[in-house]
Amino acid sequence: MAIYMKRSGIRFPSLSLKKNCDTEPQRHLSPQALERCKSKTSAPRRIEMPNPIFEPDTRPIWRSMGFGWRRKCPNCGQGALFKNYLSVRPKCTVCRQDLFHHRADDGPAYLTILIVAHIMAPLLHFTFVTWRLEPLVMLSIFTVGCLALSLYLLPRLKGVIIAVQWARYMHGFGHEENARNSENT
Ligand SMILES: [Zn+2]
Repeated sequence: MAIYMKRSGIRFPSLSLKKNCDTEPQRHLSPQALERCKSKTSAPRRIEMPNPIFEPDTRPIWRSMGFGWRRKCPNCGQGALFKNYLSVRPKCTVCRQDLFHHRADDGPAYLTILIVAHIMAPLLHFTFVTWRLEPLVMLSIFTVGCLALSLYLLPRLKGVIIAVQWARYMHGFGHEENARNSENT
């Protein structure tokens, strides 16, 4: 049956598998492929991280957070971090730093709500107790105030969060240096 299928061009799924270290027993591999497998298994990929205690800090966190607040690249502080209001550029246009590694996710929104609420809620209370403004006037002032403050803070806090992630080698930031080093060696 197997011989018939082989002759007639019908292939078992296992026969159509690409030959590699995981799918093929090693005796079936060519000498070159065997050599490749050995080099893969003997040298596992290691991610070298700088030790903050013994090595100088090459990515000062406060400086990069300042760049992030100004919506600039956390590495050079020159290139724009965003290509529009909130979309992060995949690479810095000035220093070519990869920026797509960031995982800011909902962090900027949480921080924005936290800050806006802590500023506006006491202000609302103070305004109401002191001046007793008309409800419609209060509504108008605080709606515009909350919106304006949120729109101001959101991209800046996103920049700060990305800068912290970059400065602390999180989510793939820093692994590009290891890749470059391993290419050079
Ligand atoms: Zn840059």
